Amino acid sequence: MRKLWIDREFTDGATGQTLQVVDPATEEVVDVVPKGGPLDVDRAVAAAKRAFPGWKRTPALARAEMLVESARRLRQNKEEFAVTLTRETGRTLRKNRGYVDWSATCFDYYAGLIRDRRGRVIPSAAPGQLNLVLKEPLGIVGCIVPFNYPLMLLAWKVAPALAAGNTVVIKPASATPLLTLDLHRVFDHLPKGVVNIITGSGGEVGDALVKHPDVPCIAFTGSTSTGQHIYRLAADGIKKLHLELGGSDAAIICADCDLEAAARAVAWTAFLNAGQVCTSAERVYVEQSVYRRFLERFADLTQKLVVGAGMDERTEVTPLIGRKERDQVEARVAQAQKEGARVVAGGRRPPQLSKGWFYEPTVLADARHGMSLLEEEIFGPVAPIMPFTTFDEALHLANDSPYGLGATLFSSDAKKVRRYFEEIEAGNVWVNDPLVDNPAGPFGGMKMSGLGRELGEEGLEEFQQTKHVHWDIEASIKPWWYPLPE
Ligand code: NAD
Repeated sequence: MRKLWIDREFTDGATGQTLQVVDPATEEVVDVVPKGGPLDVDRAVAAAKRAFPGWKRTPALARAEMLVESARRLRQNKEEFAVTLTRETGRTLRKNRGYVDWSATCFDYYAGLIRDRRGRVIPSAAPGQLNLVLKEPLGIVGCIVPFNYPLMLLAWKVAPALAAGNTVVIKPASATPLLTLDLHRVFDHLPKGVVNIITGSGGEVGDALVKHPDVPCIAFTGSTSTGQHIYRLAADGIKKLHLELGGSDAAIICADCDLEAAARAVAWTAFLNAGQVCTSAERVYVEQSVYRRFLERFADLTQKLVVGAGMDERTEVTPLIGRKERDQVEARVAQAQKEGARVVAGGRRPPQLSKGWFYEPTVLADARHGMSLLEEEIFGPVAPIMPFTTFDEALHLANDSPYGLGATLFSSDAKKVRRYFEEIEAGNVWVNDPLVDNPAGPFGGMKMSGLGRELGEEGLEEFQQTKHVHWDIEASIKPWWYPLPE
């Protein structure tokens, strides 16, 4: 059994209770972890609070060196970390190796950024004065991470938060806490209390962290409904919130694109991680003149995808995280069929796999707006395909969603591309090459998909506050001061 990691020490949870972590591919218990409670939150926050003044004063160059060391340790433990990630998330070992590398890159990136960013000098109103804009850390950042990318989304928060001089308390999702608890190996060269890791349920540990009076900032990735709940909880403390929430991404496929490349790319973005990606293509709009051709090719590619366990190197589509999630996807496909959609690939549990929460990658033709399936995020391996006739109509349909996280256009027409990136309501826009993240490229959502940005310079600024200093060096009496009596 793993332990909580508070103040650079291993500790049992105060409640004495545990949580089981189950492999989604085998339904076997992989390990148990402490089910922490509010007392553990108090201990972790107290440790982070003690560490904050020292970490804030640590020169940025020294903090940067320590982040580079974290990156090195991530790479050094890559194989073991990737296996743990596969056991708890179900995702392929191949992809998880890549996510460990990606996360290390994120630490390197923020180490580089913080080395030469310390605010600026601005013009003063009069000679003999100095005006400064200082960028300071916020204090303790509560980092709450979802199940689908336990390491990468943690790195996107923790690396910039530490670079900026904050201390952190990390809470992973209950289904995927194992790798997070192993990260003491990546952080135990940092001063005591700078990083603290606690596990437990969202309702108990998550709520206690958000409400804690000593935590001024919450960096959260998860569903829109939990994000709304956190927004309300944080209001009393006027906390700074960073919210990366749900999505229902549109892909528009124009007749002038390379249709084969588009079909392959949509299969990649719709079924990666069994569709449990916040930027999965969940609505695919295809120009009427190539609709049939695209549908046939896409269904054909989908049927050939290998469904299986993430430990098997041949696997392309992995299981959903839990039984409940698999059953929900199944029920929503059945409902879509009742409402007129047609299954042209998948649409069932794979008969050859008796264990695990698998669902075949599924292509739904004749989908349309107004169907219940399209009203909520799907978060499963299901791609609804719809025709459009004009580019205006495609843009209108793509924007007809409460979400605005990612969006992809497949086209070779520069005029359409320009219109698209000006008019599409999404924070992450891809043209011909979906789901590509860049450490220097800010990532985040518009509308109900969230507040703030991760990655890039914006991702660092989320964890800083701004102070304006006006210093009259000569301290002379100014003509505009009140003429007070002697
Ligand atoms: P979730 O909202 O159920 O949980 C996310 C995290 O919040 C978990 O750690 C959970 O324990 C915690 N939590 C739950 N209830 C809480 C509460 N009352 N107070 C505080 N914390 C609480 O989400 P999930 O099912 O783990 O993840 C899937 C969701 O995450 C999807 O909606 C997906 O789109 C979204 N997501 C968004 C992005 C993005 O960058 N926008 C990235 C990945 C996932």
